[in-house]
Amino acid sequence: MRKIMLSLSSALLIFFASLSFTSIAKSAEFFTIGTGGPTGVYFQTGNAICKMLHKSAISAEHGRKKGTAKAYRCTAPSTGGSNYNIGQIAAGEFQFGVAQSDWQFHAVNGSSKWEGKQFSDLRAVFSVHNEPFQIWARKKAKIKDFNGLKGKVVNIGNPGSGQRGTMEELMKAMGVDNSFFKSTTELTSSEQVKALCDGKIDAFGYSVGFPNGAMEQAATCAAKASPINLTGSEVQGLISGADYYAKAVIPKGTYTGQKKDATTFGVKATVVTSASVSEELVYLVTKAVMENFDDFKKQHPAFGFLEKKNMIKDGLSAPLHPGAIKYYKEAGLM
Ligand code: GLU
Repeated sequence: MRKIMLSLSSALLIFFASLSFTSIAKSAEFFTIGTGGPTGVYFQTGNAICKMLHKSAISAEHGRKKGTAKAYRCTAPSTGGSNYNIGQIAAGEFQFGVAQSDWQFHAVNGSSKWEGKQFSDLRAVFSVHNEPFQIWARKKAKIKDFNGLKGKVVNIGNPGSGQRGTMEELMKAMGVDNSFFKSTTELTSSEQVKALCDGKIDAFGYSVGFPNGAMEQAATCAAKASPINLTGSEVQGLISGADYYAKAVIPKGTYTGQKKDATTFGVKATVVTSASVSEELVYLVTKAVMENFDDFKKQHPAFGFLEKKNMIKDGLSAPLHPGAIKYYKEAGLM
C-alpha cells in the first residue's frame, strides 16, 4: 500500500512538473544572443538588447488580450567573441550575435578565416558602436608603434575572438608572423588586463568600444598602459582596401594618463542573425531597440554616438534580414 502511495505521488509530481513546463514553453520562446568577454562592450550590448525586448514585451502584454501573440525571452551569455558567435549562429545554437564588421564580411563572403566555410545565410540586423583596434602596451616596455612589438610578449587573443582575427590581418599587412614577437599568448579579453598589470605580457591587441572599464584598469594599474598608434602605409593599405575598416581615433583624455590621441584603424560592432531565424523575431528585436532608443543608448557610454540612420547601413555587408527591413520601412527609416 505504502509502495502504491509512493509511486502515485511521484507520478503526480511528474505530471505537475510537466504541466508547468509546458505552460512555460507555450507562453515564451527562448533565444540566445552571443556576445564577448564579460568585461567588454558586446556583453553589455547583448544584455541591453534583451532588456529592451523584455521591456517592450511587458508593455505589450499589458495592452493585449491574453494569448494573442508569442512571447520571446532572451539570454546573452558571455562568449569567445565575433567568429565564435557567427559559427554558433551558423550551427543554429545562437539566433543572434554581436560581431565585428570585418568578420561579418568575411563570413558571408567566405574569405579570410571563413574561406571554404562561407555562411551565405548570415544576415545583418543593425550596427552599433565603433571598435578601434587597439594595442595596449605597458609603460616600461617602451613600445611606441607596431615595430616596437618586436621581441616582446604579446597577447594575440583567444581563437574565435574578433581581435584575434584582426590582429592576424594586421600582422599579415605588416609582413610578420608570430616569430616577430618573443612569445605570444592566447588569453581572453577578460584575462589580458590582469596579465598586463602583473607584467606577464608587454602588450595586447583588442578591438573594443570606448570608454571601457577594463581599459581604464590597464591605464591605472601598475602597468600604466596606453594604446599605441597604428598608422603608416601598411595600415593605410588595410583601410583603403576594405569598406569594413575605417580610420579610428581614441581621443586624448579618454583614459587616465592618456595625453595624446591614439590613431589607429577600426571596425563597427554589428548585430547579426541567420536567414533561418523568423521574420517575427527579428522584427520584434529590431523594434524593441529602435523604439526604446534613448534607454538603449544609456546602457553603455560607447552607445552615446549612435544614430538610427547610420545603424541600418554602416558596417553591414551581409543582406539585412527581412524582419529588420520590415521594421525600418514601417518606421520610415528606409
Ligand atoms: N570585438 C571583440 C570580438 O569580436 C569583442 C569586444 C567586446 O567584447 O566588446 O571578439
